[in-house]
Order: sequence, then C-alpha cells, then structure tokens
Amino acid sequence: MPVLKNIGSLATCAPGAGQSDIGVIPDAAMAWLGEAIRWVGAERDLPAEYAAWPAEDAGGRLVVPGLVDCHTHLAFAGWRQDEFEQKLLGRSYLDIAKSGGGILSTVSRTRSAPETELLERASGFLRDIARLGVTTVEAKSGYGLDLETELRLLRVYRALQLTGPCRVVATFLGAHTVPAEYRSDRAGYIDLVIDTMIPAVAAQGTARFCDVFVEESAFSVEEGRRILRAGKSAGLQPKLHADQLSSCGGAELAAEVGAISADHLERISEAGIAAMKRAGVVAVSLPLASLYLGHQPLPARRILDAGLPLAVATDFNPGSAPSYHLPFDMMLACTLQRMTPAEVLKGATLIAAQALGLQGQVGSLEPGKAADFAVIDAESVNHWMYHCRPNACARTVVGGQEVWSAAI
Ligand SMILES: [Zn+2]
Repeated sequence: MPVLKNIGSLATCAPGAGQSDIGVIPDAAMAWLGEAIRWVGAERDLPAEYAAWPAEDAGGRLVVPGLVDCHTHLAFAGWRQDEFEQKLLGRSYLDIAKSGGGILSTVSRTRSAPETELLERASGFLRDIARLGVTTVEAKSGYGLDLETELRLLRVYRALQLTGPCRVVATFLGAHTVPAEYRSDRAGYIDLVIDTMIPAVAAQGTARFCDVFVEESAFSVEEGRRILRAGKSAGLQPKLHADQLSSCGGAELAAEVGAISADHLERISEAGIAAMKRAGVVAVSLPLASLYLGHQPLPARRILDAGLPLAVATDFNPGSAPSYHLPFDMMLACTLQRMTPAEVLKGATLIAAQALGLQGQVGSLEPGKAADFAVIDAESVNHWMYHCRPNACARTVVGGQEVWSAAI
C-alpha cells in the first residue's frame, strides 16, 4: 500500500475528451493497494488517510500509465537479417519469397523449434520490453500455419501470462499466409483454419482474438469474412491486418464483422474510415512497419479528424518490424504520422487497451484500475518523445509490483 510522491507530472490518460487530452496533473501523487490504484491527484490534495502509508519518491519525474503494445508477433524462431540486406540492395519481396525467404522461412524454423526454446526466447523479449515501460503486450500466433505449431505458439503465450513480467493477450493468426504445402490448394487451407484450427484453439482456451491478414498477397475480403465469422462464432473476437499494401476493403470488412480493431491501414479509403467510425472499430497504426518497408504511413490526421480512436503499436516481427522498442515507435508516430506526443501517449495506453478490450482494467491511471505504470526520466510527455533516449524508463510497475528499476 505505497504512496508515490514527488511526481513532477502525471498523465492519467483517462477516457473522455479527445485523444489529445491526457489529463496532466503537475506535482502529483498516487496511492495503490495490492494490484489496484486507490487515489491519484495533486500531492497537496492527498487525503489524510494515506499519510501513514509507506511513501516512495518519483524524484520529480514523469509518471504515465504502463504502455500497451497492442500488436506484436512475439514468438517465432530465427531472424531474417540477410533478407534485410537483400531488400536494401533492391530485391523485391516477391523475389525473396520465391527463393524461400519471407514469412515462410520463419514458419519452417518455428515449426521445428521446441516449445521450451520458443518460450525462453519470447520470455527474454518480454523482459526487455518491460524495461521500456510496457506493461501489456498482445501476441499473435501465425508462424506455425499447421494445427500443432499454432497451438504450441498459443501455449507459449499462456505460459507467459503466468510468468510475466508483462500482461499478455493472445491472438490466433492462422490466416497469416497460405503455407507452402497448400500453395495449390488455398481453399483446403482455409477449410483447415475454419474446421480444425479455430475449434481447437477455442477448446484450448488460449486466444482471445482471431486475426486475418486481408491483403491481395494473403487472404481476400471474402476469405477473411468466412474465417472471422467462424472465429467469432467460436468466441474469438475479430481483428484484422487491413489495407497495408492496397486499399482492398479491409477496413470495411472490419466494420462489417464487428472487429475490435483494424491494424496497419496505410492505404485506408475515406469509405473505410467512415465505416470504422460507424461500427466503433479502433484503428491501430504501426509506424515501425511503415518505416522499415519505406511505405507512406497511414493518414493519421484524417483518421483523428474523423473522430476515430487511433492506437500506436510496434508490429514486432522478424520481417517488417524487427524491433519491440515501443517508445521509439511512439516518436515515429509523431514524426511520420504527424501526431502530437499527447495523442501518441493516449494511443499507446488507453486506446491500445481499447483495441484489446481491456480499457476497463488498464491503460489509464484512475482509482479502481490496475496499478500498471512507468516512471519516465523526463520533465514532460513532450520532452520524453522529443529527446528519444535509448531508454528513459526508470521504473516499471505491473499490478502494483515493480518489474523493472533502473540504477539511477
Ligand atoms: Zn502484424
């Protein structure tokens, strides 16, 4: 039951108001009991009942809600650094894929990796991620593309939910791409996803969402519709990788199937923005992926002007975004997407939590919510994102428990 005092400024990121309203309280204090926040406000207003609670000192630093990375592909085997060089030298994605590279090379390595090895590696990533101030991570399967490996990846995420240090939310992404053995029978693979994988994933109880990569090079709108509907009937809420490389109706499909979020959206149409707004779908931007691929980022200002909530996440994966540095990604959301630091912070906390259906538990600093927060060694939100240090996070707390503390 500590009280954190001497907080230079605290951003509550509470709901209501617009995305740029992050509820900054100067000279703040915050008290929590067990896993939950009890009180947040200006230190001079701290109620007498907390006076005897053990005090901790934030050293005049900034306190923000624990960051939420609402889109990652956390568990996989191997890397693809040679492909990185080949792409820089001008080889096309298709050319690389034809010579056995791309997603399918990660799939073949992941299939042959033992569960313990995948778990140990993802667990190491998660420890690093917690040090950056991130407290909740969404993690997708999708590097198995066969029943056994997809279930193995989801079991890895269940194990991480128990060991931490971050909260983990799992998504089934069997429809990431068509695996090599089904190249001449894509209908057969879609049947496998719908008739075998989705029921098995639902029975194992390890995933909350069902995601589909809706793209000309992956799955069509019609195929995505069938898979997402089947997932929904089995209790898995829809999510989409949509409109990344072409404007092919992914955002509109997200609205039609009642998806919780549509992610990427670099090529979203005006009709897609309007449909998502009507259906209450959260837009998720992935600036690191836009940067690595050299693509025009999504039209953030048009999305925000339309009144759509816009989350910011990394898309951490071994191909198009091989970094899980969410604070760096947040700086990119400012510079590439022309979002303000306040809009970005709310996008990587409360709105990211909304993209996971967790806005009632995490994503803002308010009484009753989880005591998930980060102490940032910066004088303000603007200064933190503008200066972009290797790691400005001095301390990370998840559910009232410290999981990282820098020696400063
Ligand atoms: Zn992704």
